[in-house]
Amino acid sequence: MRIRVLTLFPQMFDCLNESIIGRAIKSGKLDFQAVDIRAYSKDKHQKCDDTPYGGGAGMVMTAQPVYDCINAVDPNHEYLRIYMSPKGERLSDSLCRSLAQNDSILLLCGHYEGIDQRVLDLCIDREISIGDYVLSGGELAAMVVIDSAARFVDGVLGSAVSHEDETFSDGMLEYPQYTRPPTFMGLSVPEVLLNGNHKEIDKFRKQQSRALTEKLRPDLLSDTDDGKR
Ligand code: SAH
Repeated sequence: MRIRVLTLFPQMFDCLNESIIGRAIKSGKLDFQAVDIRAYSKDKHQKCDDTPYGGGAGMVMTAQPVYDCINAVDPNHEYLRIYMSPKGERLSDSLCRSLAQNDSILLLCGHYEGIDQRVLDLCIDREISIGDYVLSGGELAAMVVIDSAARFVDGVLGSAVSHEDETFSDGMLEYPQYTRPPTFMGLSVPEVLLNGNHKEIDKFRKQQSRALTEKLRPDLLSDTDDGKR
């Protein structure tokens, strides 16, 4: 999967070089690049923001550098072009899965008060929000999208880790996990997990999963909830 992020702060994406996503980038499963919008500014001081027409607080990112950057990275519109925005469609497990089906995605990050609407109208295919709150920039949101969607790209998690047995994968929360030692600070691992009877273990985990979901996220169990697939 090809991923391009367009941002005024490309160094923020250095943290993607760690752990699972870092390995996927090194092995070529993900072809990732953070592109600096400022490099495309035609202003002599490489300015990329200005005061809003109509007044109001803060600065707005200007159209020219963003427009030229998008068209330099994606001249033939091969990428699904996404603007990270609190006004967008809310990210969910099912949206992550569907994003992972795309060969190429471009994530545009706003900053300050956002981006001149005209460049969004001209260039963007869809808007995605990571939740009902306002961040100071789209960078952290883009990282959330990359991490959560990349997990569904073949080969990214490797054979040892599966995304088919996780919270939300069957519309429920995952059962609690335990590892060695069998007793810690006086608390023992549930006996059933130690006896090697996989049928019983499976049954126990399903019960735990159901009980946890009823307790913590009953909304997931109702048919009308959009988190349920
Ligand atoms: N003035 C805008 C908010 C701008 S916040 C408004 O009220 O709608 C600055 C940038 O942060 C945005 O351009 C967007 O790219 C990003 N951003 C803020 N909150 C976000 C969220 N919940 N999800 C995704 N991106 C977000």
